Amino acid sequence: MNRKTDIVVVGSGLAGMSAALTAAQSGKKVTLLTHGAGTLAISSGCIDVLGYLNGVRVADPFESMATLPAEHPYSLIGGAETVREAIDWLKSVCRKGGIDMAHAAEEGNHTLITVMGTLKPSYLCPDSFNPDCLKDVHRAAVVTVENMKDVHPGLIIDQLHRYAELSDKEFMEAVLPCPIEHAHRNITPLDIARHVETPEGMKWLEKSLMPYAKLYPVLLLPPICGMKHSQQIWNQLCSALKVKIIEMVSIPPGVAGLRMRDVLKKALNAAGVYMVESAEVVRAEVEEGRCKTVHTLTASGEDAWEADSFIIATGGLLSGGISTAPGKAWESIFQLSLDAPADTEAWSSPDIFGSSFFASMGVKVNHELKPLNGEGNVCLDNVRFAGRVLGGYDFAAEKSGNGVALATGRYAGMLAGKE
Ligand SMILES: Cc1cc2nc3c(=O)[nH]c(=O)nc-3n(C[C@H](O)[C@H](O)[C@H](O)COP(=O)(O)OP(=O)(O)OC[C@H]3O[C@@H](n4cnc5c(N)ncnc54)[C@H](O)[C@@H]3O)c2cc1C
Repeated sequence: MNRKTDIVVVGSGLAGMSAALTAAQSGKKVTLLTHGAGTLAISSGCIDVLGYLNGVRVADPFESMATLPAEHPYSLIGGAETVREAIDWLKSVCRKGGIDMAHAAEEGNHTLITVMGTLKPSYLCPDSFNPDCLKDVHRAAVVTVENMKDVHPGLIIDQLHRYAELSDKEFMEAVLPCPIEHAHRNITPLDIARHVETPEGMKWLEKSLMPYAKLYPVLLLPPICGMKHSQQIWNQLCSALKVKIIEMVSIPPGVAGLRMRDVLKKALNAAGVYMVESAEVVRAEVEEGRCKTVHTLTASGEDAWEADSFIIATGGLLSGGISTAPGKAWESIFQLSLDAPADTEAWSSPDIFGSSFFASMGVKVNHELKPLNGEGNVCLDNVRFAGRVLGGYDFAAEKSGNGVALATGRYAGMLAGKE
């Protein structure tokens, strides 16, 4: 079957969903093809814009953007102004979907608290993760749920006390009884967050937190304050218990990433985007430097999708956007070569956050996010790339993952929407 739309977007991570929604909001008919859920679904749902530059923590991510190399995705799309616009846009999409996102009170990044007891810089987070209220208090309880995997208050407190800014705080361990009987495995914050969506789950959480709320002005919780109604649930708990609640960033599955993905999926649906899930793009037909169709493989067979333009937001190695074999690396759909050093040993650096091919491999693009060949010329005129499939940056070392995905996805959607 051959179907035609204005724009086909491939990938439903933050980059693909931002691109598809932006293009649809500009009046285009958009189809979104996706194989899996992307890393947003397992991430914290916080938007890291730029946390570190050359290993040094940045004070203001937008000011620091001006010093990034020319091939960095932020530099290519116009820097701070474009990124700020994308952030404001995402905030408004989330607000409409029921999640309020918070900037740091002062210029610069938040210092989020993780369930590993580490502090993590991030620019934008859901209100419930905003740690600012901890600055004004001396005492807080660190809460877990009996049998919860990977959330251990004793460990969290020991780790937090290593930070100078928290060393004088008095933290107390709190373990809530497990509300899920006969769990066949250790429970995760996601299990509890889903339970808290039910009336009995909400009642359980409020009642279990009550004794600690009487003793401590701030409660640090794993992300368990609901799923679809998390903002309402968090507001309701804070006001019923008369405390400030801070949700901590959990390891995957990061509940807040799923909350945001749910909001974006609803927005895509409302904007008329035709989303096809479990559809893997396996090949593309290209004629004279233009992509004509991409082909998907689903349980029901192969389909061809024709469009005027295409946005490829297929992620990195983890999501399948990039493929590798000894001595070579390539973009998976169009087989664009990624200039890998022939000696695979040279791909990595002994320093885990050191600069290396492995950390920043991806498609080279121009300022319109169109791919470039070895001579630096555009090789696919109606195709744009966005998000982690792009080269020229190292999201893990910089802490810029969702920031680049959002800003380049939005930018690709805006450019395609104007054509
Ligand atoms: C565990 C983890 C936690 C993270 N936490 C944070 C965080 O807290 N803050 C932050 O800012 N960043 C975080 N990051 C980084 C950030 O999540 C990513 O850099 C960013 O979300 C990448 O988004 P993307 O849309 O480009 O790619 P992805 O999210 O990887 O999405 C790629 C999409 O393309 C689809 N796809 C791939 N190939 C095909 C194909 N052939 N056909 C159809 N579909 C295809 C995939 O199924 C997926 O839907 C985290 C990353 C990981 C792995």
